[in-house]
Amino acid sequence: MQVDTLIVGQGLAGTLLAYFLMEAGQTVCVIDDDYPRAASRVAAGVINPVTGRSFVKSWRVDELIPFARQTYLQLESLLGLPLYHERNILRALSHQGDENDWLGRSADPAYLDYIIDPADVSAYFGKINPAFSYGELQHASQVDIGKLCTAFRSFLINKNSFKKETFDYNKLEISISAEMQNFASLQMFPPSLPPSPSLSYQGITADRLVFCEGAKAPRNPYFNYLPFIGDKGEVLIVKIPGAHFPKMLKQGVFVIPFGKPEEELYWIGTTYERNFENDEPSPHSKATLNDQLSEVLTLPFEVVDHLAAIRPTVKDRRPFLGFHPQFEQLAIFNGLGTKGTSLAPFWAKHLADRLVHGSPLDRQVDIARFLTHN
Ligand SMILES: Cc1cc2nc3c(=O)[nH]c(=O)nc-3n(C[C@H](O)[C@H](O)[C@H](O)COP(=O)(O)OP(=O)(O)OC[C@H]3O[C@@H](n4cnc5c(N)ncnc54)[C@H](O)[C@@H]3O)c2cc1C
Repeated sequence: MQVDTLIVGQGLAGTLLAYFLMEAGQTVCVIDDDYPRAASRVAAGVINPVTGRSFVKSWRVDELIPFARQTYLQLESLLGLPLYHERNILRALSHQGDENDWLGRSADPAYLDYIIDPADVSAYFGKINPAFSYGELQHASQVDIGKLCTAFRSFLINKNSFKKETFDYNKLEISISAEMQNFASLQMFPPSLPPSPSLSYQGITADRLVFCEGAKAPRNPYFNYLPFIGDKGEVLIVKIPGAHFPKMLKQGVFVIPFGKPEEELYWIGTTYERNFENDEPSPHSKATLNDQLSEVLTLPFEVVDHLAAIRPTVKDRRPFLGFHPQFEQLAIFNGLGTKGTSLAPFWAKHLADRLVHGSPLDRQVDIARFLTHN
């Protein structure tokens, strides 16, 4: 098999990169090991424009959110299933100081488009223990990113463009760079000699390979010099009969409608753990999430699942895009951290544009930033 691009990893990063490359008329082959505890399989897929304790706009959110919306809607129509759900976020404000900070933000013109005043909590009356007060955010959404990856995998399989296996770095054969190849063929080989493929792997030849391996990237011998961190997160899937919550509630934990309305399921999360021994669900985090939810709800609930995964967080909290310093055929798309749902569409298109049209990479995300010596 000969393709333009071989992609390793089919979480959100690999899915969106493959999508934009195929949109641009390129051929791809995607390899993924179908790991059930990949971040994209566990995440709720929330796009939240204003985050943190001081309620600040997420990095470049004004350009990321409209692009993400457009991309997920295009994918909905390509794959023929609902994936993108616009839902406001209700943000619990726990004391007067919080409320003052929120009011300060809502008076800032840069936040006018996101903050709704007053918040409408009426659907929650009698079902939750009320916080001091609430703020409400619009242009927030929830994307079924696990479902998206599964459906896109079927799409790739139908095009004979997917392989389920663990990529073995030892079996990758990399030729010398294209420039060197030209030089060599001019100097040493007859001009009629066909150019060699840039790389080959188990019978697949490709011009380049992009690693989209999420939290497993530190195992990659070509890119393990990058400052990966990793952050374990655990979530509960619960049934809350009679809740009918229409929005995403952030009150200590997130309570997010999940699945079909008649299933009455909610995604509850999440924990953040920098120091972890493994990526498995732990009884301790289950109890913590259970307690946090009990503090919020006055309704009974039933835990139906408990999931865990490692977020691909990185040192400077900016995505990792770019090329190996020695092997220009090898690239990476990683570092989506805690905000992959809003970041992935924009930066996947950015990398696809670089690969297809040669447009420059934004320096804020280019991994070349780690080669600069001050
Ligand atoms: C609990 C939790 C909650 C989250 N909630 C949100 C949220 O609400 N909103 C948000 O925006 N983000 C959220 N995130 C973050 C989000 O999930 C990630 O940013 C995003 O999914 C990362 O996608 P990825 O494709 O880079 O990595 P992954 O989803 O990890 O995908 C990488 C894939 O590559 C495969 N792979 C790796 N190495 C190899 C190899 N050598 N051979 C074959 N296959 C390989 C992996 O098994 C995996 O399938 C959350 C994460 C967690 C853990």
